[in-house]
Amino acid sequence: MPCARCNEPAVTLVRYSGQHLCAGHFCEFVERRVKREIHRQVEFRGGERIAVGLSGGKDSSTTTVLLHEVLAPRRDVEVLAITVDEGIASYRPEGIRFAKALCEGLGIEHRVVPYEETVGWTMDEVVAAEPAAIPCSYCGVFRRTTLNRAAREAGADYVATGLNLDDTAQSILMNIARGDVDKLARLGPHDHPQPGLVPRLQPLRTIPEKEVYLYAMLRGIPFHDGTCPHSERAQRGRFREILNRLEEDSPGTRHAIVAGYDRLRPLFAERFPPPELNECVACGEPTANLMCKACELQTRLGDRKAQADREPETVH
Ligand code: SF4
Repeated sequence: MPCARCNEPAVTLVRYSGQHLCAGHFCEFVERRVKREIHRQVEFRGGERIAVGLSGGKDSSTTTVLLHEVLAPRRDVEVLAITVDEGIASYRPEGIRFAKALCEGLGIEHRVVPYEETVGWTMDEVVAAEPAAIPCSYCGVFRRTTLNRAAREAGADYVATGLNLDDTAQSILMNIARGDVDKLARLGPHDHPQPGLVPRLQPLRTIPEKEVYLYAMLRGIPFHDGTCPHSERAQRGRFREILNRLEEDSPGTRHAIVAGYDRLRPLFAERFPPPELNECVACGEPTANLMCKACELQTRLGDRKAQADREPETVH
């Protein structure tokens, strides 16, 4: 099948637009939307530092490359990368290796920040201490606080993540299903910066996951294709399946969910404004409560460990 825009052979059918596209026009199609999204989310004034949360996977590696390229003409804007090391021995070291190589190739600053330094626990230790818990419920909280703190310490004005269209639509559905309107209101790029929180930038939020994958392959962007051993236990998986089925039946569903959400965002912001933030009594990070969620979880882990140390070993 030829490309809808030239006579080159098509590499993909974009089902939601009904277009067959060749490699060149597909890449252009992705780049145009990412560029538009970056400029929609940030009004550059010069002097900005943008930290990308780079895991080494396809989404964050593509985000790093595209931000670096889109902002290359602006010598007054700097892109750097921060890799959060969750401490998952069977998975993370390979991602760090890819992230490091990518940053070296692009010539950008790269920082690796381990959970051990910020929350005092590796995820391997968390899983051993709390075997019945869903690991991502700890990891998600620890990653948010670690990335925010590292970005702030790096002097970043924005922290960019590799969140793609599928992730965004899944988060919207998950929060609707849980009735968590406050969290729903706070999804997406930050429109109202708050003290201590580095505003988020999400350049890939309109690009479907499969398109990010194809784009990275066509451009030869090196990325770690591994899967975290705990990902199967993530609740997000159920919403991914539901959304994939909806998209299969009605191409364009993910875009419709996100576009509908974006139209509601101003109403959410008015009706559910972000809460006033305090400094966490334990670590000083911004929180709506007295103690931040990351410190609450660390306290719970400490209690579990103390309890396990007190319990005598069972002799069979
Ligand atoms: Fe952390 Fe869960 Fe992601 Fe694994 S899948 S890196 S445990 S959030």
